[in-house]
Amino acid sequence: MKSKILILSGAGLSAESGISTFRGTNGLWKNYNVMEVCSEAGFYNDRQKVLDFYDLRREDITDKVPNDAHYMIARVKEKYPDKVYVLTQNVDDLLEKAGCKNVVHLHGKLRELLCEDCTETFDIGYDPILKHKKCPACGSSLLRHNVVMFGEPAPEYETLYETLHETALLVVIGTSGRVLQINEFAHKTKYSILNNLEPDKAIKARLFTKVFYKKASSAAPVIESLVDQYVDNGYI
Ligand code: NAD
Ligand code: ZN
Repeated sequence: MKSKILILSGAGLSAESGISTFRGTNGLWKNYNVMEVCSEAGFYNDRQKVLDFYDLRREDITDKVPNDAHYMIARVKEKYPDKVYVLTQNVDDLLEKAGCKNVVHLHGKLRELLCEDCTETFDIGYDPILKHKKCPACGSSLLRHNVVMFGEPAPEYETLYETLHETALLVVIGTSGRVLQINEFAHKTKYSILNNLEPDKAIKARLFTKVFYKKASSAAPVIESLVDQYVDNGYI
């Protein structure tokens, strides 16, 4: 029987912490053409521009702190460690800073570099890439950001699909559903909760059991008590 809780988050989760969303109009993104800095083709066209972009994004998250929604997710995971899976599209480290355990980053991590020769990944904190000349595993100097770009496979999607198979309650927070098939996931799940700032053409709200259009920090207490109710009442 499906009995797991999947908490799936996107850029909206970290918006109140001051990290710009993908489609928001402020911050880092407005100075860039997304396809130039976030696609495989853009990377091959101008490698340095993309590496510089990720240096800026890494620097940008240095002083950012989690908001109430990150802490809520960390608490729920701690309360039901074997029942709850925390998967995020975010590449920041705010769930970890909130103390959340076993976070799966579907699109990689800003704080990591990836060795293009041996695929080793390693944490560099908030450093610029230039400070790290060689792969600690194989010594290669062919290093890049460990963030999945458009056009590249996302290895952790395997984990997402496996988790969805076992999920009875899906909680979606702060994602526009343009990258992942959120509608399909909700359709296949018995109970589902959606929290975005506002309705979006890409998401069919009627497929969800509960919908909250408000800031993630304001929705967090309600979502937490709903999760408790689903568990306490034996629904999942
Ligand atoms: P998106 O920018 O496409 O959509 C953001 C969604 O969050 C929107 O639906 C919006 O209504 C909602 N939102 C905005 N502010 C909110 C708030 N305060 N509370 C609740 N909801 C809020 O983001 P996406 O769907 O995650 O896709 C963007 C892609 O870009 C992802 O693949 C992600 O990896 C990447 N990205 C990551 C970060 C990060 O790591 N923090 C930031 C920007 C982009
Ligand atoms: Zn290597």
